[in-house]
Amino acid sequence: MNAPRLSVDRQRCIGAGMCAMTAPDVFDQDPDDGLVLLLDAEPPAARRASARTAAGVCPSGAITLHEADPLGH
Ligand code: SF4
Repeated sequence: MNAPRLSVDRQRCIGAGMCAMTAPDVFDQDPDDGLVLLLDAEPPAARRASARTAAGVCPSGAITLHEADPLGH
């Protein structure tokens, strides 16, 4: 089964840190510039809900969740 895949746009990220607080296993912040670091681009099922929530709360829309193709293509 295909897993949803995450991507982050560090050009858009404003370093608000909401993602790292919401899903610390999936996102972190760069200690140098405070911008998002993607720890796990294909989080396991147990982490997907929080990853999805993090994408929703990001104030700059820097997190994209590419949902798996239901047909597996
Ligand atoms: S919540 Fe969005 S703006 Fe804030 S650190 Fe994460 S990706 Fe960047």
